[in-house]
Order: sequence, then C-alpha cells, then structure tokens
Amino acid sequence: MQNLSVNVIGAGITGAMIAYKLVRQGFKVTLFDANHCVGGDVSRTSFGWIGHIANDPIKHPDLFPLLTDGMQRYKALNAEFDGTLFDAEGGAIVWRATPEETQAVIDRQRQAGTRTRAMSKQELQQHLPALANPPELAAHSEEDVSWYPPKVIEKLVDVLIRLGGDVVLNSSMSALDVTDHHCNGIRMNDEVFASDFTVLATGGGNGSLIAPYEPKHGLYTSPSTYIELSAELPDFTPVLQTPDIEMRSLGLGNFALAENPPETDDPAELERIGAQIVQAVKDTFTNAGQVELLSIHVGQRPASHLIEPLARPINGFSNAFVAGSHPGVILAPLIAEKICTQITEQALSRAVV
Ligand SMILES: Cc1cc2nc3c(=O)[nH]c(=O)nc-3n(C[C@H](O)[C@H](O)[C@H](O)COP(=O)(O)OP(=O)(O)OC[C@H]3O[C@@H](n4cnc5c(N)ncnc54)[C@H](O)[C@@H]3O)c2cc1C
Repeated sequence: MQNLSVNVIGAGITGAMIAYKLVRQGFKVTLFDANHCVGGDVSRTSFGWIGHIANDPIKHPDLFPLLTDGMQRYKALNAEFDGTLFDAEGGAIVWRATPEETQAVIDRQRQAGTRTRAMSKQELQQHLPALANPPELAAHSEEDVSWYPPKVIEKLVDVLIRLGGDVVLNSSMSALDVTDHHCNGIRMNDEVFASDFTVLATGGGNGSLIAPYEPKHGLYTSPSTYIELSAELPDFTPVLQTPDIEMRSLGLGNFALAENPPETDDPAELERIGAQIVQAVKDTFTNAGQVELLSIHVGQRPASHLIEPLARPINGFSNAFVAGSHPGVILAPLIAEKICTQITEQALSRAVV
C-alpha cells in the first residue's frame, strides 16, 4: 500500500480516526482541514459520551448494538495507546423521574446484555455527596466513559505524523477534481491535490460537497447545545444524566453539559437555556456556590436518515468516499474501519490487475 495515497478531508474525530487507521495500514495519508488546527468543528462542542446506558435498546434496536460495538472498539484503541488515549475509569450514573422508570432502564440494559446495575441512594450519596436530592434508585454502568474529543484527535494525529503522514491546515477544499468516474484528488481554489483515494469527512460540510454527484444525498445537520460552566463543587468521575441535566466533570471545578437545541435563532433563547442550566445545576447540588456560565455553543451534528453509519463511496466513484454521521464520536472507529476496508480491497484488486 506504500505507494498509494489518500487525501482525507476534515480533521474532526471522523477524519482523524480514518487517517490513523489508513496510515497504520501503510497508506500515504494527507489530512486536510479548513481550520488552523486539528480537532474538528462539531467535535469541539461534543459531550464525547462513549456509552450505552442513556440509550434504550428496545426503542433503538438498530442503534444500540452500534453503541456497544463502538465502546469495544474504543477499548481496543485505548489499548493500542497503552491506556493513554483517554481515562477509562469514568462510568455513568443515570436516573429517571421515578424509581420505576429507572428500574426499567436497568432491566432493559441487562436484557440487552450489558453489565448495568442498580445503585442505591446510600451508594449514590457516597459517589456524589454533593447531590441535593438523590433518588432512591439510580442505574450505573462502569463501562461508559466520556472525554474531550479534540484531545483524542491530537493523539491520533500525532501517530499519523510519526508514521509519515502529512497534515495540511488552513486549507478549504472547494470540490473534488474528477475525470469521468474517476476522482483525481481535491481542489482548493485553482490548485489540485492529487491522490489515489479521497475521503470526505467534513462533518456538516459533506452534504454540499457531494451534492454535485448526489443531489438527493439525504444528509443534514441536527443541532445540540454544549455548555461549559464553573461551580464550587468537587470534581466527580462518572457522567451524570438526570431528568434535568447531562453533566460531566472537566476538572478544576469546571463542568461540561449537553442540552437540547434552542427552538429559535433568537440569541435570547440561548441565554434562556444558559440560565436554565445554571439553575438546574444549583438545584441538583447543595452548596454549588457561584455557578458561572463559561461558554454556550450550538453544534451542528452531521446526520443522515439511515441508522447505518455513513462510510461509503460517493455516487459514481469507486475511489472517493464520504464518511461520518451521528453519534459521530462513538461511531468513528467503526466508520474508519469500514472506509479502510473498502480502500484496502480496492488497493489489493489494483495490485492483482
Ligand atoms: C452538544 C453535543 C453533544 C454531543 N454528544 C455526543 C456524544 O456524547 N457522543 C457522540 O458520539 N457524539 C456526540 N455528538 C455528536 C458528535 O460530536 C459528532 O457526530 C462528531 O463530532 C462529528 O465529527 P466529524 O469529524 O464528522 O465532524 P467535525 O468535528 O465537524 O469535523 C469536520 C472537519 O471538517 C472540516 N471541514 C469542513 N469543511 C471543509 C472543507 N471544505 N475543506 C476542509 N476542511 C473542511 C472542519 O473544519 C472540521 O474540522 C454531540 C454533538 C453535540 C453538538
């Protein structure tokens, strides 16, 4: 594979994971991004939860196995990095509005084969002594983790560079460069960057880039709100999902939260969400002290109408691919493997010819 080149466009979690896998297979990989640094666009405002406990295996029977598969793949990936890719000790604690609903979460998770267990009020208080009104029952998964995607992306890109790959930043791809049904590479204004294979992993940008070849591509973006705040609370390791908040500790008294998107574009709506979250944190914990909103962003999650993750050739081409769909962080290793397999098969068939 050493002589075959691949241009991967987009240095978010999808593109970084694909570039990492391909370079390890021996391809000559160049990772491009429009931004001045790697780390992605929506990947920067992601909650980064790699887990199953927040998803209902009965309501989402197609998605659920993909989540557990993603967790296994990250576990294996972390082992490739000797456990330094992310902290695997997080776990997640979830409860619903009533103990009956929480018990249903535990039952369904266990029926689906996970190691979810019941956590009593007393045990919950030991884990999170600052909770104001701990419920009688919570669901606990030791396997769930959550981390900041750009940090993982940087580590993947470090390996890419160490293994001879290139990273080209501040470079916005305008179109594929094509002749008949062959993709020659990518265009950046008037310049062409040639390659044997091309992979678009541009998150919400994928739709417009493939539109000339697939007018009915069915890709869209789905907004979600990411918040960071500081509070006078002890840091905690598990991800916490209650009926009111989805929260994790960033360390040093800082916390990340994910919330529904604003219903309108009015900036006042985002302010309202920020104020509501600050109040929810004050209500969830005793002595949260000064709770200060540090940032609030609406991220556009790349999505498609299909459950199957997007990792396929662009219509009409056998050497150009499009990749990435929600939940993109947890699905990134699977997407990368699918892309890598297709490119490797083509590379091998070329070698045979
Ligand atoms: C609040 C929130 C919470 C979330 N929580 C989770 C979660 O818990 N678990 C989970 O799995 N997912 C979660 N997601 C979704 C997840 O963040 C995304 O699915 C994932 O980050 C998508 O990564 P990506 O690499 O495909 O896209 P991006 O991170 O957007 O990366 C695309 C890259 O392409 C570059 N680019 C775009 N156009 C061009 C161009 N023309 N030329 C060159 N470069 C270009 C951009 O600069 C960017 O760096 C969440 C999202 C949000 C907003």
